[in-house]
Amino acid sequence: MIKLNQIHKTYTTQFTELHVLKGVNIHIKCGEMVAIMGSSGSGKSTLMNIIGLLDKYDNGDYYLNGKQTKELNKVEMASYRNRFIGFVFQNANLIAYKNIVENVALPLYYRNIKRKKRNSEAMDILQNLGLLNHAKHFPNELSGGQKQRVAIARALVANPKIILADEPTGQLDTATSNDIIKIIRSINEQGTTVIIVTHEHSVARQADRIVFMKDGIIE
Ligand code: ADP
Ligand code: MG
Repeated sequence: MIKLNQIHKTYTTQFTELHVLKGVNIHIKCGEMVAIMGSSGSGKSTLMNIIGLLDKYDNGDYYLNGKQTKELNKVEMASYRNRFIGFVFQNANLIAYKNIVENVALPLYYRNIKRKKRNSEAMDILQNLGLLNHAKHFPNELSGGQKQRVAIARALVANPKIILADEPTGQLDTATSNDIIKIIRSINEQGTTVIIVTHEHSVARQADRIVFMKDGIIE
């Protein structure tokens, strides 16, 4: 499903060059759940952004579902991203002036799906995640854990093959964090490939496999 060979990435700013990824190799099979650990600044988010087609790499090969991604232009990247990938970040990043169901339905808007269908699909997911009672609430009325569940619902609504979760429990207490990871694990057990970045061993242990980033490579 995901195959990276010798991926390199350097950030160039006006005064410096920062070689962050120095030949990353990783293969992730369809249906697998992989945890990525590693110290802060080791390049985990950079790697997730590349896997999620949010950012480009400089060298190496990245195959997504058998497709060489190097040849994709911006529009094609966006279309692959919409079709294949759902993101969950450390911050739920919900839109404050939209209610919960509208937030969850947003990815379907970008797929030109009509409002009625968007909302009914969003409501189905909210029901599955135990959030139906909050559908008409606004983000500021929800707890941190509830917001993160909404973010998961939003990631799921377009039926992605892959969920990329970058420190999804980073701002939650242990109990809430356990709830969130259980939800992510159950999504994986229904067939979705999951990559999760985390600092917490209790979270990483839920994955099929843990890999470590250090000095710009995966050990
Ligand atoms: P992690 O997620 O493991 O904490 P990141 O991938 O966010 O690490 O960052 C790796 C390194 O790249 C850090 O030193 C960070 O400051 C730097 N970095 C991240 N994004 C950018 C960017 N857009 N421009 C320049 N440097 C960046
Ligand atoms: Mg990060």
